[in-house]
Amino acid sequence: MLYLVYFLLYFFIFMAGSCIGSFLNVLIYRIPNKIPFWKGRSFCTSCKTTIKPYDMIPIFSYHILHGKCRHCNKGISKSYPLVEAITGLIALLIYRSFDYSVLSLIYFTFSSILVAVAFIDIDTMTIPNGLIIVLLVPTLASLLFAQQPDIISRIIGFFIISLPMFLITFAIPDCFGGGDIKLIAVCGFMLGWHNTLVALFIGLIFGGIHGIILLTKDKNNRKKHIAFGQYLCVGVFTALLYGDNIIKFYLGLFGLN
Ligand SMILES: [Zn+2]
Repeated sequence: MLYLVYFLLYFFIFMAGSCIGSFLNVLIYRIPNKIPFWKGRSFCTSCKTTIKPYDMIPIFSYHILHGKCRHCNKGISKSYPLVEAITGLIALLIYRSFDYSVLSLIYFTFSSILVAVAFIDIDTMTIPNGLIIVLLVPTLASLLFAQQPDIISRIIGFFIISLPMFLITFAIPDCFGGGDIKLIAVCGFMLGWHNTLVALFIGLIFGGIHGIILLTKDKNNRKKHIAFGQYLCVGVFTALLYGDNIIKFYLGLFGLN
């Protein structure tokens, strides 16, 4: 019986998260296309038909419709159910770490914006300034509700990666996008400097793997850029939830804790 209650609770939290994911899909499509996200209902991007509410159930609708629009039969991008599933999973993981709390709400808002940032970065190779500014809201709210990190660690976190990245762009122009620099600055203020380093490290591992795959697949295209922002977002989310444990584990390897 208890298992059933837990299952229903987790299912509810997952679905609530994926509903927010559904809204993120709207942002991910509309922000780069300069369509106001508050204007009008969701529509099919091919035939522009307004989507009926019963076709807007996160994840399920995509499978019920076999990944095609009900009207024009054009394929719907797999990224739609993916964003919904990722956001649902984020809601679950944050609930597991922070339970019902204001902090959960702040971290979920922060992480949801990161999902939008990551997928817009994948689509367009740019990070909209508007989203970075919105990211400041949960970041500043965490100052009031989170005990850790302290303000000194946050300020160092703001500069510790962003400043070197900024300086490197003088030597190697176009090496990093300006969006990546602003993103890691704001995230650094959220995470504090220890966890900012963890976030960068994780981002570099995933970005590095992507880079190696790109090089082996397409040897003629060595100059092709990869959207690093998406991996930074993965790193920041992981560090937000598990950074302290990762640092403890890492120091433990050297008998330092
Ligand atoms: Zn359609």
